[in-house]
Amino acid sequence: MDANELDELYQELIMDHGRRPRNTGSAAEANHHAHGHNPLCGDKLALSLRVEGDVVVDVKFLGEGCAISTASASMMTQAIKGKRVEDVLALYHRFHLLVTEGDETPETLATLGKLGAFAGVRRFPTRVKCASLAWHTLDAALRPDATRQVTTE
Ligand code: ZN
Repeated sequence: MDANELDELYQELIMDHGRRPRNTGSAAEANHHAHGHNPLCGDKLALSLRVEGDVVVDVKFLGEGCAISTASASMMTQAIKGKRVEDVLALYHRFHLLVTEGDETPETLATLGKLGAFAGVRRFPTRVKCASLAWHTLDAALRPDATRQVTTE
């Protein structure tokens, strides 16, 4: 498989999640919540999680926004469900490096798995905010002290 084929596969993955997002709704007995807003594009997101001990046992989102923000939220929920909070935050860090700094080292790509599909958004600075919104919102939801409303501006 060459780089172009991989690119196409990744684009299909993002389009599929943009059209048919997974894990939509509200998590049952959620104990972590946050709202995110990206005014530049108009993306809005409400995220709810059920964390037991240090494991994310359930996560769902309700969103209104572009295909990139929807796909990112959908793929994020799949990636973090069942993971320890510590590993989720490490994933957030890697995702951030990928879309803002183009960190495509083998270590980062191996950690991110399918989320590596978002590498291409780095070329479109306004889209970085769309792709990052779900992750910023997640970070806010998991902080014990911080505000529950995040904005990319
Ligand atoms: Zn957007």
